[in-house]
Amino acid sequence: MLTFDHVTKQFGALKAIDDVSFKVKPGIITAVIGPNGAGKSTLVNMAAGSYGVSSGRILVDGVELQRLPKHRIAHAGLARTYQNIRLFDGMSVVKNLEVALVPPKVGRLVADTFGLTGRAAAEERRARCHAVLERLGLAAHAEQQAGSLAYGQQKLVELARAVVAGPRVLLLDEPAAGLNHGETELLKQHILALRAPDLAMVLIEHDMKLIMSISDTIVVMNRGQVLAQGNAAEIRANTEVQEAYLGQ
Ligand code: ADP
Ligand code: MG
Repeated sequence: MLTFDHVTKQFGALKAIDDVSFKVKPGIITAVIGPNGAGKSTLVNMAAGSYGVSSGRILVDGVELQRLPKHRIAHAGLARTYQNIRLFDGMSVVKNLEVALVPPKVGRLVADTFGLTGRAAAEERRARCHAVLERLGLAAHAEQQAGSLAYGQQKLVELARAVVAGPRVLLLDEPAAGLNHGETELLKQHILALRAPDLAMVLIEHDMKLIMSISDTIVVMNRGQVLAQGNAAEIRANTEVQEAYLGQ
């Protein structure tokens, strides 16, 4: 479980996150929505250790993350994708996944392979990467340069890289941004297939149709605060939420 506990983030005079508390449970998909600038990416960046926390706590299974370096946060089982693709364009697709498994950014499951000799561990890592690529329909592209893939495929490689270490918390920052209808539908199937009893998933998205169709619970952010939380029907019926979007 991922917990935001009275979290605040100040950028100079701007309070980007203002006393935010909510829990993200395993086994379900939690969507975080809200107008541009609401603070959604800032939450992800703080959880993953890219941004410091001004006050409050962020925990994974009771472990406080807010003072840990990025690789320790990854080790604690948290993985994320970026709103803007951040692949190593010149590296092959499979190499992009392998770097997510190489120390110090060692995933929880991969730590199991440390008992193996260097070469066996490398082979184990490679096999794991290929298995994830297979699962996400990317097997045929494994040896291609990441930068040569179509945009929609690169978004899937980002997802593959985030899941390869077997995270317990997965934060997806606008994975459908820029995808066409068919690509979005494919992404939706992959996200649904990732749903697992021991994985807490956060989906940040603008595509309301996608959000409403796959989220188990929805957290609505506005101006750095949590405006509402509920299921799709509750959020649709919430007048405050409607106003926040109309006022954009
Ligand atoms: P969202 O992802 O919901 O669109 P963000 O979390 O990116 O919103 O941004 C929330 C607010 O914080 C915005 O006003 C944005 O300009 C500001 N912000 C985000 N990152 C930084 C930063 N590194 N430095 C200064 N301000 C930032
Ligand atoms: Mg954002």
